[in-house]
Amino acid sequence: MAKLIIFSAPSGAGKSTLVRYLLSQGLNLRFSISATSRKPRGEEKDGREYYFLSPEAFRERIARNEFLEYEEVYTNKFYGTLKSEVDRNLAEGSNVVFDVDCVGGLNIKKIYGDQALSIFIMPPSVEVLRERLEKRGTDAPQVIDHRLAKAEYEMSFAPQFDVTVCNDDYERAKNEILKLVTDFIKEER
Ligand code: ADP
Ligand code: 5GP
Repeated sequence: MAKLIIFSAPSGAGKSTLVRYLLSQGLNLRFSISATSRKPRGEEKDGREYYFLSPEAFRERIARNEFLEYEEVYTNKFYGTLKSEVDRNLAEGSNVVFDVDCVGGLNIKKIYGDQALSIFIMPPSVEVLRERLEKRGTDAPQVIDHRLAKAEYEMSFAPQFDVTVCNDDYERAKNEILKLVTDFIKEER
């Protein structure tokens, strides 16, 4: 049976980097493309990183019950997983990888139970988070402050996840994740 792998973390913890690595490992994994009402950042393309929608279009889809889960992560900035996206990937027999916020991650885990593995990526510290976000250079200082304010709150969700992986040393973290996910996909359900 196809599996679901859920990644959540405070912004800047290295989740996208680790997910990108995992997707390149030939494990029959498909990235679940979320919908969002925020604007594309850097090189992001519609239908690749996200389905970019206006806040109005996003609200219409909520009203039509098209989301498995959604969150208003920042004011008027919606993020959500479309049921159609997950159903399509599972029907193909692919394992699905999610990059979602903590609440969304726990909601998906609740829906799929043992078919899903929820992984929390823990940053070494909030200070290191700030350094990484500044170095990444994709967010304005105000946006970085906002993300950090949320980070400590998000870290309080870690114990509710199936596993927590600390992304201190990248090589170690990526090997730990590769093993966790490979073993989970192999398990018979
Ligand atoms: P997220 O998706 O969690 O917001 P990113 O994957 O974009 O985070 O990582 C934030 C920044 O930190 C990126 O510039 C990335 O290259 C860097 N980074 C990721 N993992 C590590 C690590 N273990 N050590 C140092 N820098 C890292
Ligand atoms: P970013 O703007 O950096 O791409 O993402 C901001 C936050 O929204 C991240 O924590 C990311 O994981 C989360 N996110 C992305 N897609 C979804 C989704 O479909 N559902 C939920 N609940 N959160 C999401």
